[in-house]
Amino acid sequence: MSGAEPARGGRDPGHAEIARTGLPQSCLIRARWVVPVEPAGAVLEHHAVAVRDGMIEAIVPDQQAAARFAAYESFDLPGHVLIPGLVNAHTHAAVALLRGLADDLPLMCWLEEHVWPAEARHLSREFVRDGTLLACAEMLRGGVTCFNDMYFFPDAALEAALAAGLRSAQGMIVVEHASAYAPDAADYLRRGLELRDRFRDEPLASFCLAPHAPYTVSDETLKKVSTLAAELDLPVHIHLQETQEEIRRSLAEHGMRPLERLRRLGLLGPGLIAVHAVHLEGQEIQLLAQHGCSVVHCPSSNLKLASGFAPVAALLAAGVNVALGTDGAASNNRLDMFQEMRSAALLAKAVAQDPQAMPAQAALRAATLSGARALGIERVAGSIEAGKSADLVAVELRGPELAPCYDVVSQLVYAAGREHVSHVWVGGRLLMRERILDVPALTGLDTRWQLWQNVVKKRADS
Ligand SMILES: [Zn+2]
Repeated sequence: MSGAEPARGGRDPGHAEIARTGLPQSCLIRARWVVPVEPAGAVLEHHAVAVRDGMIEAIVPDQQAAARFAAYESFDLPGHVLIPGLVNAHTHAAVALLRGLADDLPLMCWLEEHVWPAEARHLSREFVRDGTLLACAEMLRGGVTCFNDMYFFPDAALEAALAAGLRSAQGMIVVEHASAYAPDAADYLRRGLELRDRFRDEPLASFCLAPHAPYTVSDETLKKVSTLAAELDLPVHIHLQETQEEIRRSLAEHGMRPLERLRRLGLLGPGLIAVHAVHLEGQEIQLLAQHGCSVVHCPSSNLKLASGFAPVAALLAAGVNVALGTDGAASNNRLDMFQEMRSAALLAKAVAQDPQAMPAQAALRAATLSGARALGIERVAGSIEAGKSADLVAVELRGPELAPCYDVVSQLVYAAGREHVSHVWVGGRLLMRERILDVPALTGLDTRWQLWQNVVKKRADS
């Protein structure tokens, strides 16, 4: 994205202009606090972030900003903290349409008897496009500017994400079983690679190889994934050791635990994004650390499916890059990264029996820069630094539930919620202002969600 004309003064942000052209504008965002995440621990008071051509141009004290960027349109956020956009490092966006369809069940029963049959009935390009639009609307309203998706029809998911203005990492999904999307593993891979070729130059898109899980993908396919990952320098996004049952099945079928199987197939490395990693032995944590792997912790999903408690403090202590994810709305049921930050910080303390485990700063880092790092896009997103994309979120820290404010990061993680997100920019485009979405593709869709609800419910009842 480039070529935007700098704003020529005036107070109106030009909603129509943004909607029509889709181009970012130059602006100066003046906030009570700026928490850039990098350098770690920094809290800048009365600072401004200058944005030009979709990129962060400078972070300067407010007093200097007005003179230096006089021509820029100014956003005054006197009671707000500006943070990097949140990175939802693991989701299945389209299943937002199945939110609440089947709750209070164990993972395998939930998957095999409810989610997979519903997917088999409804899965189509249209389902994925509409479901992803719904997820994007929800995520934007919660300050999420980037999501790492794993679902069928990633072409439709990407189309929706781009229409919504979000950054996304699209999973080139692979499973062995046939679906409405592809007949076999080779075809899944072929389609994913084609999509990546088509959108290689899209600044808001990146790609991961996404073998669903060790229990849905064969050794032969995982070897192909390993070769492709090395050849094309792509991350590998996979569910791993989510439940004890998964490990039991792996021991019975392969004579080894899933992580050991991935190691033997050559999949361990800095590009590995291990989702959940709830059940880990001590040497497995060391193995993940030695290979520079990332773990995506999804505390709400793990709690709801009673999968167990990920050893987050031990992973962080070992130096593993820990990111946060919501998982799909069918198992959460919110795509709410504020909830994940808070739950992750609280659970890490309980599991480690140490209140100093995962402090608020670490939870915010996991929800931003660590997610970007897992996706291999830390040079573009994840922190407020000059030269990075202007993926920015303003959170209004006002109101009785947020007063008084002694420590702004503590307030963000332990007291604030997604309802306090006021403004969201992605690549310099203002997508939400004062909690109102300004994205044509996301307006007037309520009747569409109702239609899907009727269709899904009718077939589930029949
Ligand atoms: Zn998942």
